[in-house]
Amino acid sequence: MKNISGIRADFPLLSRSVYGKPLVYLDNGATTQKPQCVIDAVDEVYKSYNANIHRGVHALSDKASEEYENAREKVRSFINAEKREEIVFTSGTTGSINAVAFSFGERFINKGDEVIVSHLEHHANIVPWQMMCERKNAKLRVIPINDIGEVLLDEYLKLLSSKTKLIAVTQVSNAIGTILPVQEIIDAAHSRDIPVLIDGAQGIQHGITDVRKMDCDFYVFSGHKIYGPAGIGILYGREKWLAELPPYQGGGDMVANVTFEKTTYNELPFRFEAGTMNFPGAIGLGTALDYVSTIGMEDIEIREQELLSYANDRLTGISGLRIFGNSVNKISIISFLVKDIHMYDTGMVLDKLGIAVRTGTHCAQPVMDRFGIPGTVRASFCFYNTKEEIDILGTGIEKVISMFA
Ligand code: PMP
Repeated sequence: MKNISGIRADFPLLSRSVYGKPLVYLDNGATTQKPQCVIDAVDEVYKSYNANIHRGVHALSDKASEEYENAREKVRSFINAEKREEIVFTSGTTGSINAVAFSFGERFINKGDEVIVSHLEHHANIVPWQMMCERKNAKLRVIPINDIGEVLLDEYLKLLSSKTKLIAVTQVSNAIGTILPVQEIIDAAHSRDIPVLIDGAQGIQHGITDVRKMDCDFYVFSGHKIYGPAGIGILYGREKWLAELPPYQGGGDMVANVTFEKTTYNELPFRFEAGTMNFPGAIGLGTALDYVSTIGMEDIEIREQELLSYANDRLTGISGLRIFGNSVNKISIISFLVKDIHMYDTGMVLDKLGIAVRTGTHCAQPVMDRFGIPGTVRASFCFYNTKEEIDILGTGIEKVISMFA
């Protein structure tokens, strides 16, 4: 891996200051900063070949279409999908889950059927299923978690039945960092022929992703959490499923032939890409995947685990600091509260010190309810963070305690 100062130099925003203090950006779970190459790739689209994709015969449209399809190929290869037809561009994880919830629901869910999620889900992997269950008179079942924030596999197995039509679970909890045992979850579901959707929003950026090895049926993620632009995301669906699902949006480009009497749909994956897509975002995402591949996903994982262990040691040394989510398998997220100090007070003082952390429920209210708390302060680290920044966080929290306790 490149040395850390070289890596940080790739990200222009990391060198800015906030309130006269050097920025310590520890909100990577919410969104990641962008390397210059991604900024340049998007800039280049608008500067030199902006034109609508798949529509013109002119040179610019050809070039934009080609780059967009190259980006699709980069995504396919990054997650090791078998075919490019299985890679659908969407607006993000939320867009992808809503697409599956609608289309899968229309095609496969009937009254009395059940969909299983876990207690660790982001609202984006709860609400679309609730909406679908309401539409279809189906039921949402929830895999419970234990006190350290791990899903209870025995309870999961008990939930599986002939009524179960789909499992939709997150790969990693955005609120407390738990890495879920997705392989066990998928294997148990498949032994009963039940398909599985994996929400990879917090998984894709932290290690190697191989959808074929994982054997999931759907895998979704957002570009902005893996150093790419906002407003672009991915829905991977195994061809056998995508081929069966009806489109969830109608419009230009998703059709083969349109008359007032009958419309036929385009082939995969275009059938699920209605209207003008975010092609600059897709191209930027392709560049982001090239960038992290050059750094090396294995090395990223190792470095982030080192940061997590350093942060654990530093923060557990602070008296009165409680960490929520202590699973052995965790990504580099520490979700905490300090004494009885309100999370917003902690977040605001840290902000004045130049430290960006997230405060609140992290769009995972059921997780907070499970722990009986209104929310947490969440520091989420990634490979461009440093041990010095973790020390600054530690000192910042000690300052919060001296001010409020
Ligand atoms: N799932 C998880 C686990 C997440 O962390 C997030 C973003 N915080 C989402 C889904 C939703 O992602 P987006 O807002 O990019 O659609």
